[in-house]
Formats: sequence, structure tokens, C-alpha cells
Amino acid sequence: MNTTTNNKLTTAELTALHGATLAAMNAEARTARTLANISRRAQTLFTDGGYRAEAFASDFFHVFGPEGQHYTVLCGAVAGFNCDCKAFSEYGTCKHLEAVDIMKSDAAQADAFDAQDAFDPYALRF
Ligand SMILES: [Zn+2]
Repeated sequence: MNTTTNNKLTTAELTALHGATLAAMNAEARTARTLANISRRAQTLFTDGGYRAEAFASDFFHVFGPEGQHYTVLCGAVAGFNCDCKAFSEYGTCKHLEAVDIMKSDAAQADAFDAQDAFDPYALRF
């Protein structure tokens, strides 16, 4: 059975498909760029981004921006992951959430190092 003839697209169909594919690729590239920017901004949000975070429960944080912005961030296994900003509702992540996540892992790492020092058998020799 030869279906090749029936499956051929017209030039107009090909052009439309090509346009739609390019638009989808552009949208995907834009989203990828936005997500990369979010992660990049999160790296230094609390160190030189002018933002600060306050924990009000183990997985709940208030994040304050330099221009009086306030966001409520949930970050943890129990509370889940959420932020009430526009970026989060659009992309499912945001610089506030990612910055809090980084802050929490840094703190956990520091605690682990402290615990390691406290039980370091070599430290007890001197
Ligand atoms: Zn956010």
C-alpha cells in the first residue's frame, strides 16, 4: 500500500507547520532562558540582591525585597514548595523559592560540619 501521496503536505501546510515549530522553539528557548535567569538571581539574592528572608516556621519563610515587596515562601518536604509571586505561578519556580532552598542547604551543610567537628576524634587528642 502506498500512502506517500496521501501524506504529502501542501506548501501552505508545510509553511504553517514550519512557523508553528519555530514559534514553539522560540517559546521553549525563552522559558529556558527565564529559568536560567531565575536560578542565577537566586544564587546571590540574599547576599547582594537586597533581599532578606525570615523563617516563621520550619518550612515557611517571609522574603522581603529591596523595594518593600513581600512574598510567602514554602520550602520543605512537609510544607511543599510554593511562592505567592507571579513568576512561581507562571514557571513553577522563582528566585525567592530557589534562594530559600539554597539558604536551607547551606545551613544544613554548616550544621553537618559543626556536628562533624564536635565528634571529630582527632580534635579530642589536644
Ligand atoms: Zn517567588
